[in-house]
Amino acid sequence: MTALTNLLDLDPAQLVAYCGELGEKPFRAKQLQRWIHQFGAGSFEEMSDLAKSLREKLSTRAFIAAPAIISDHTSTDGTRKWLLDVGQGNAVEAVFIPEENRGTLCISTQAGCAVNCRFCSTGKQGFNRNLSVGEIIGQLWMAEFLLRKTKGIAPGPKGERQITNVVMMGMGEPLLNFEPTVTALRLMLDDNAYGLSRRRVTLSTSGVVPMIDKLSQECAVALAVSLHASNDTLRDSLIPLNKKYPLHELMAACKRYLDYAPRDFVTFEYCMLDGVNDTDQHARELVQLVKNVPCKLNLIPFNPFPESGLKRSATPRIKAFAQVLMDAGLVTTIRKTRGDDIDAACGQLAGEVQDRTRVQERMQKMAEYQTKFGKNFGKIVEITQ
Ligand code: SAH
Ligand code: SF4
Repeated sequence: MTALTNLLDLDPAQLVAYCGELGEKPFRAKQLQRWIHQFGAGSFEEMSDLAKSLREKLSTRAFIAAPAIISDHTSTDGTRKWLLDVGQGNAVEAVFIPEENRGTLCISTQAGCAVNCRFCSTGKQGFNRNLSVGEIIGQLWMAEFLLRKTKGIAPGPKGERQITNVVMMGMGEPLLNFEPTVTALRLMLDDNAYGLSRRRVTLSTSGVVPMIDKLSQECAVALAVSLHASNDTLRDSLIPLNKKYPLHELMAACKRYLDYAPRDFVTFEYCMLDGVNDTDQHARELVQLVKNVPCKLNLIPFNPFPESGLKRSATPRIKAFAQVLMDAGLVTTIRKTRGDDIDAACGQLAGEVQDRTRVQERMQKMAEYQTKFGKNFGKIVEITQ
């Protein structure tokens, strides 16, 4: 018996090929894709304009399923966070951040992460595995249609879109899971799926230089780069990947990317670590570093967790740092944080759930954390694009 196909794993071209294998015309793939990604269909019965024979054929060979939800919490300000089961004791997070004129979904691309940045608890978990296309796009599918359901918007063609922006800033390094990430991006942009503009989809990377170039060729969406340091010695100590792709290479890659990017700037993220990277001297060095790259700076107050041994810079220090950048003419924002008191926020669960042998216990622990801290959301708090 051949394995059932999860249709969330297929990009537009693959869906056409799949329909071809079933003896169906390409326009059927388009219909199917719209049912899944625009109308939120999770079963074939509801696809009323597909022939009954096709629906029956599909139900014996395929299915539509996103990762199972372990927990689902909404904060008082409407921020909603899901913890999703991706099997073998691994869980990833997706966070929805509603704002006045937009709704942003932050999604994960890997369970754990191999880059192992000093300030990131996802990194401390180590790398577990890459997410599949279905697990990546499934976060958007699940979130979009659950949000509609919560608002009482009936499933089907007339649904009003809830998610207007997507940021790949959850768990994992998207450029180290390149193909599935790009396939998921293509679905986000496809007019017969989510139809998001490239400007509204942002990929954040710790700086995998060759893959930045590859992304510019294959699917140039808005780019955010996690900089966090103003010189190589400091960045080497925070982001081990910097030893492989040092700052001059990273800056050159950012410049090259801008020839293809949907926006005329790169966003540099800079996590504010007390006494580590947050002096006025660092700010001045940062100004020099980025001077040839059209960019915006986004300062992120560090979200502490015990094993990091790091502390968040005090607010006046962050403001003073921002002032040096702004005085030099750099557009700078400070990301607002919530859930300061916890280390169970986005990507912050690793310390408590590291033992991979005790899977059930680990899942239970994650669910407990979510229940306990359900109103608090940490790492991803306000996305400025
Ligand atoms: N791997 C990618 C995307 C996921 S991390 C990357 O590194 O860019 C998304 C953002 O969260 C990155 O800018 C990362 O540096 C930041 N981040 C990670 N841990 C953090 C923490 N403890 N506090 C604040 N920001 C953190
Ligand atoms: Fe991985 Fe990004 Fe965390 Fe670094 S900051 S360990 S690249 S998820």
